[in-house]
Amino acid sequence: MEAVALITGASRGIGRGIALELARIGCSLAINYAGNRAAAEKTAADCESRAAGHGHAIRALPCQADISTSAGRQQLLDFTRDRLGRLDLLVNNAGVAPAVRADLLDASEESFDRLMSINLKGPYFLTQLAARWMIAQTQSPPGPDYAPKIVIITSVSAYAASVNRGDYCLTKSALSMLTALFAVRLAPHGIPVYEIRPGIIDTDMTSGVKEKYDRLIADGISPIARWGTPEDVGRAVAALAQGALPFSTGEVINVDGGFHLRTL
Ligand code: NAP
Repeated sequence: MEAVALITGASRGIGRGIALELARIGCSLAINYAGNRAAAEKTAADCESRAAGHGHAIRALPCQADISTSAGRQQLLDFTRDRLGRLDLLVNNAGVAPAVRADLLDASEESFDRLMSINLKGPYFLTQLAARWMIAQTQSPPGPDYAPKIVIITSVSAYAASVNRGDYCLTKSALSMLTALFAVRLAPHGIPVYEIRPGIIDTDMTSGVKEKYDRLIADGISPIARWGTPEDVGRAVAALAQGALPFSTGEVINVDGGFHLRTL
């Protein structure tokens, strides 16, 4: 594969898991991060050696940019264009939890604004920028079989109400609509847009609530009774990158151990 993927928030956690799986199938990578350069460099090096182990020579390049800012988003696209030359897959993964889990009756505007700008405004306008570039590339393809795609990482919080992080749930719910909107708008250009909804995944984001989630998993919150891993999400993204769902767009792929199922 000559394909190039840009993954936001790929230094750690789910984004790193996605990067490693895309490296395995031979994608070159722009590894975006906000501040943790050492982690981004390690992910990039691990991706290059993973790819080599599977017979691929890829480039994995760390790129610092704050996706909540217009300048950061432009810088990320410019970096990908200048250093990697094309864009086949955008994965909107970066996201943050509220600094404090506050009850709905006490939650602050400051936390609301922070989450809206990183988790929602960032992916909305980054997808807009990437989509314009992808459309231009479909008119003058960078290689044979050019088939651009966009993936949005949401969460079970798109529909599961957590009253101690309402702002987070709102951003994830809105990202589901972002998926639908871009899926409809980009279908005529042959660009599918997919939503991946992870469940409870073992990363830094969930490290502060590990005991609580250990208990919930032991008590049967999901039919598959284990923590999800970044690799679980990465494998779903790699399947989409390889064109596994060619007649689908706006599709929601649950990677949650069956959390979304109702039982009686
Ligand atoms: P994480 O371990 O906390 O990693 C967050 C990543 O996002 C890091 O790479 C971080 O970069 C980057 N980031 C944060 N703010 C950014 C910004 N303004 N601009 C660019 N990058 C930024 O989180 P995670 O658990 O992997 O979560 C990844 C995504 O999955 C999020 O959207 C999250 O909502 C979603 N999700 C997580 C879970 C879960 O259980 N963990 C479940 C469902 C959905 P630095 O390393 O530089 O800080």
